[in-house]
Amino acid sequence: MINDLTYTEVWSRLKNRIISKPDTLGCTSWKKYTKVAEATKDIDFGCDFEHGLCKKQRNVPPYYSGDDEFKYGTMGCCVRCNSSLGYLDHIQPGTIMKYLRMFNLKTGFWRHGEGCILPRSMRSYTCLTYSCSDKSSDIYVQISNLAKGTA
Ligand code: SF4
Ligand code: SF4
Repeated sequence: MINDLTYTEVWSRLKNRIISKPDTLGCTSWKKYTKVAEATKDIDFGCDFEHGLCKKQRNVPPYYSGDDEFKYGTMGCCVRCNSSLGYLDHIQPGTIMKYLRMFNLKTGFWRHGEGCILPRSMRSYTCLTYSCSDKSSDIYVQISNLAKGTA
């Protein structure tokens, strides 16, 4: 349950995900993962934002979660950010407090009117690669190529 999440639990769960080297995207160091993650900012994910709302958010009527502060329908694919801890499978040593400072128990790393407040370099593999568009396989290829071409 979302409302049962506490900062102590978030800290504990993140602590268990600390890893010395990432094991995704063919990246053998956090330095490389950071470079690849930052480079993904130039990819068109097909979200087609208008006034801060992506095409999916615009097409799904907002519905209340029982929480006064936000509506699920406005968060698009970030809707499970808090319960999934931003889909972070692994985090870099020394970063846990940075994540905690940006984490909100209700909306995770997502903020109304701002979207994700995590820099791309700190986002999970899932958040870096996900697209609900029909171009998702093409996007995955672009990101894989970035990983191969980034020293
Ligand atoms: S990938 Fe996420 S942000 Fe982009 S259109 Fe789909 S739901 Fe919206
Ligand atoms: S992109 Fe950011 S706000 Fe969205 S689910 Fe990932 S970490 Fe959360």
